[in-house]
Amino acid sequence: MQDLTRCVHHPVVSHEGFASLAVPTFRASTIVYPDAKSFSNRSKRGFDGYTYGLHGTPTTRTLEAQLTLLHGGVRTVLVPSGQAAASMILLTFLMPGDRVLIPDSVYSPVRYFCQDYLRPRGIDYGVYDPLIGAGIGDLIDEHTKLVWIESPGSGTMEVQDVPAIIQAAKAKGALVACDNTWASPLLFKPLAHGADFAVEALTKYIGGHSDLLLGSITVSDIELRQKIKLVLRDMGIGVSPDEVSLALRGIETMGVRLRHVGKVSEEFAHALQESAVVERVLHPALPSCPGHEFWKRDMGGSSGVFSVVLKPGADANLEAAMTELKIFAIGASWGGTRSLIATTALKEERTVIPWTSKGVVLRICIGLEDERDLWKDLSDMLAKLAA
Ligand SMILES: *Cc1c(COP(=O)(O)O)cnc(C)c1O
Repeated sequence: MQDLTRCVHHPVVSHEGFASLAVPTFRASTIVYPDAKSFSNRSKRGFDGYTYGLHGTPTTRTLEAQLTLLHGGVRTVLVPSGQAAASMILLTFLMPGDRVLIPDSVYSPVRYFCQDYLRPRGIDYGVYDPLIGAGIGDLIDEHTKLVWIESPGSGTMEVQDVPAIIQAAKAKGALVACDNTWASPLLFKPLAHGADFAVEALTKYIGGHSDLLLGSITVSDIELRQKIKLVLRDMGIGVSPDEVSLALRGIETMGVRLRHVGKVSEEFAHALQESAVVERVLHPALPSCPGHEFWKRDMGGSSGVFSVVLKPGADANLEAAMTELKIFAIGASWGGTRSLIATTALKEERTVIPWTSKGVVLRICIGLEDERDLWKDLSDMLAKLAA
């Protein structure tokens, strides 16, 4: 073998006696076959076989299998972001003439996908009151093929009566997808209530460190998985094993992270209600939160994200006060180790239940800093707003 060939052919070394607790990162575009015949027959390997890096490696399959187990599903499909998980379900299961129902509190890019991409292509959507419960049945006509759930809702935090919505939708023959990002599979398992798809933005609690973008779709039926995989293949969409290996590391600590941020977020939500500049705190664990009873009945606890509605006029010094925060960072997305705060605009994003509060809404995500430092930072900011 000449040097140039040696550069390209990695020597085979022994793996004997090597055992690591880490999942190896398998990178691949090409997958090689032991002989010409197995290459010609590669399409017969089925969707669980390895044929091309884009369609899966042992690294991606490990995370998929782990999420499938956590959700009690049949298979999981990984996609490049949480938003892609939503758009892939909508693109796979809706045809021109079909209609999807989304809650008024949906993660807003999902609404924009329906409005700006699907509707001009002949796929319609309707928006429903997230607290509609079994009443969703009345909105499902023969064109409605899919009902989208997100509980609690983005920004306004309404907890949905997920079992009632699923039951009513199934009775009318519609598929049901549930964006479960706030709860993660540790606090809620939509498939156990009959949903067809459990959607997670792995970017948030599973990644856990604000350094990756991934989404997942866990399905209750193998047919649904095959249909999504075909669309991903046709569109050329897959995920990087490097991102997935970060998620495989993140998921190991998700349990302790969530338990901690859930406890602190509940404490802060209660305490913030006492602030002179706060009109309302929207946190599923507070009895005043719309749908609190469903959170109590269905979910195993809280995660770290909630909203605070300031009193009208309390935002005169807000920009300066936020900029002076020392521990909280200003930014969107959430689920990492750093606590975040951001203002959010709800007025333009509610069409069924108008958002009428005049005060500014702050989104707070609790991270892993010492809660005494966090509380001091927040109280200092609120004091500046009251001044
Ligand atoms: C962040 C988020 C998403 C999108 O996740 P990305 O990975 O950032 O695309 C979807 N749904 C909810 C509820 C989210 O909070």
